[in-house]
Amino acid sequence: MPYVNTLDLVTAAKGRGYAVPAINIVDPLTIKAVVEAADSVGSPVILQTSVKTVKSAGAGVLHFAAKEAAENASVGVSLHLDHCPDREVISLAIRQGWSSVLFDASDRDLEQARKETAEVVAEAHAAGVTVESEIENIIGVEDGVGSDESRHSYTVEQLVEVAKETGTDLMAPQLGTAHGMYSAQPVLLPERVEQILALCDIPVVLHGGTGLSNAEFDEFIAAGVTKINISTALKHAYMKTALEYLKQCEASNKWEPVKLFEPMIAASKELFVSFADIFHSAGKDGAGKGGAQ
Ligand SMILES: [Zn+2]
Repeated sequence: MPYVNTLDLVTAAKGRGYAVPAINIVDPLTIKAVVEAADSVGSPVILQTSVKTVKSAGAGVLHFAAKEAAENASVGVSLHLDHCPDREVISLAIRQGWSSVLFDASDRDLEQARKETAEVVAEAHAAGVTVESEIENIIGVEDGVGSDESRHSYTVEQLVEVAKETGTDLMAPQLGTAHGMYSAQPVLLPERVEQILALCDIPVVLHGGTGLSNAEFDEFIAAGVTKINISTALKHAYMKTALEYLKQCEASNKWEPVKLFEPMIAASKELFVSFADIFHSAGKDGAGKGGAQ
């Protein structure tokens, strides 16, 4: 299936008891691994790139790898720019053909966030690109973006009003989760999802998924979340597998990079398959066929 629009993938999940896994990939290897895993279990998938990944691997390389992987798959695949407060990188992703961008305006005050989000939506929609918006900050630092303190928090009514006014396609509100690994038990807020969806039909995204229990994911999915972001778990699986293999290389004094990729790819695939199971997206096959770019 060709590369599809993120909003179509997420909208297809509405009311169907699953959420689309949005996995932060880090390079062409993880793109290929995650898409092949999604294809093997019939799950739609959103490939997410952090700003750091875009700068490290290069937008052209990532976009090419995502399109290539999508063309070889029979499930819906989209490419998303995760947390990006930098308007220049937002514009780069839009020009380069990303399916969606998360404009992270949570470091701006409300009026500035409202103004700039509307500008990003206009720019993105002109190119057929979906916009996820974050005006409250999700706790934690992810790839150099974010804060450990709650700096901006609003009422559900304010969030919905800004989202509607700016034309936001997907909302990323505070739901009690945090980026990175949890050091203390979080206070989760699935009721906020219900409150938002009672006021509008803009899909709600759950960030900071790594570390939640299956029952907690189920609670969020039952409340109506249709996109769940996983970043830390893939990073850990990828790096720890590499470390294990490199220890063997050291012990045997045999150094073969391509052999190193095999266990890293296998670990990334295994990770995707486990989340597709937890999010009930396996077998749901990405119905979003419109909006391909
Ligand atoms: Zn996030």
